[in-house]
Amino acid sequence: MRAAILAVGTELLFGQTINTNAAYLSRELQNIGIDVMYHYTVGDNPKRLKELLNLAYRDVDLVITTGGLGPTQDDLTKEVVCEYFGEPLVEYKDYTKALEEHFKKAGYKWTDNNRKQAYFPLNSTILDNDIGTAPGIYLEKGGKAVATLPGPPREMTRMFQFKLKPILLKDSNDFIYYRILRTFGIGESSLETVLMPLIDKQTDPTIATYAKEGETSIRITSKRKSLEEAKAEVDSMIFKVNQIIGAHVYSYDDESLAEVVGKLLMKKNISIACCESCTGGLLAAALTEIPGISKVFNRGLVTYTYGAKEEELNVRPETLLKFTAESGEVCREMVEGLKEKTNCDFCISITGIAGPEDLSPEKPAGLAYIGIAYNGKTEIIEFKHRNVSRKWNRNYMLLNMLYEIYIRVK
Ligand code: ATP
Ligand code: MG
Repeated sequence: MRAAILAVGTELLFGQTINTNAAYLSRELQNIGIDVMYHYTVGDNPKRLKELLNLAYRDVDLVITTGGLGPTQDDLTKEVVCEYFGEPLVEYKDYTKALEEHFKKAGYKWTDNNRKQAYFPLNSTILDNDIGTAPGIYLEKGGKAVATLPGPPREMTRMFQFKLKPILLKDSNDFIYYRILRTFGIGESSLETVLMPLIDKQTDPTIATYAKEGETSIRITSKRKSLEEAKAEVDSMIFKVNQIIGAHVYSYDDESLAEVVGKLLMKKNISIACCESCTGGLLAAALTEIPGISKVFNRGLVTYTYGAKEEELNVRPETLLKFTAESGEVCREMVEGLKEKTNCDFCISITGIAGPEDLSPEKPAGLAYIGIAYNGKTEIIEFKHRNVSRKWNRNYMLLNMLYEIYIRVK
């Protein structure tokens, strides 16, 4: 089945609201084997909405709208959709009563414009809204289907999951199975290039790569007549992908690097402490997001000034003066000081230039040193990357720290 998502709402066109509904629905529809061909966005305007419906149905069999289902004047999605399908709206009296009851119970004042939410076309399925008042509809006619969902994401996702998805799945004989692999240390374009022989040949399973900040995911999807068959296809493709880039894969279940690292540390009972300069506590924050991490996470220090590095970590003033804080030498003394102080199994330090300005031509933004004291030895890793922005630089430094931990404890 081919689908289009049509978001209705003038605030979307103004840029006040980001169209997260379309992104959500696209991901969900892909998971159940429905191909999304278009995203449309239109303001609260009946004429343009109708024109878009005309346009969409030239190429798709299903349109899912979001927004414009409420009781107010500008909420007109249902009305326009039904006009397009030539289906008159009739009042469902029981529904009006139920709505009035609902208002009374919730302590809201009933206004008569709410009545329009109890009007439905006779040949449609009502999609109840369990957490709001505006219901949606699902309608099929002449080989075309439409579903109207509310705008508020909380209501929309619930209605999709519990009301619409079962209807869409009913007609499908296919089973979809997918896995998302996460990689680090290989860019999306390189990844695509090395996987091209596989990507090129395959129609099922399909392989798609997505780049997130510094990390790249690979989604492997199969659509078959049985779930077992789809799983077997995906697994055998994972095997092939692994032969090419296995060294870069750190998760086969779409987990973040921090999650994977945290779980490994807990499983192996490796205590950890960190001291951070340029990342200002990002590593500590990432690790402490993981439930149960207190079992192994000892502390995270943010030692920003020379004074802080001296006081907390015993970094020598001479070293700071001679090499500056952003140096391998200081990074080494930081991690050795941390080891001395905490005696944790795994100690890690970072110092570098977050940017956006370079410190000097020799010390550009994006340069960082990671110090690791683990298994009886101390290592200093220097890494440089393209200066993108302070935010990106710091996030990339965080990922590098996590990756350095990962490859040592896995
Ligand atoms: P209501 O009964 O709340 O009026 P509605 O179905 O009429 O629901 P809208 O009035 O179009 O929905 O939108 C209500 C709110 O939902 C918007 O102010 C916005 O915050 C959010 N919203 C609407 N459309 C989207 C979208 N495509 N993506 C994310 N949020 C959205
Ligand atoms: Mg509204």
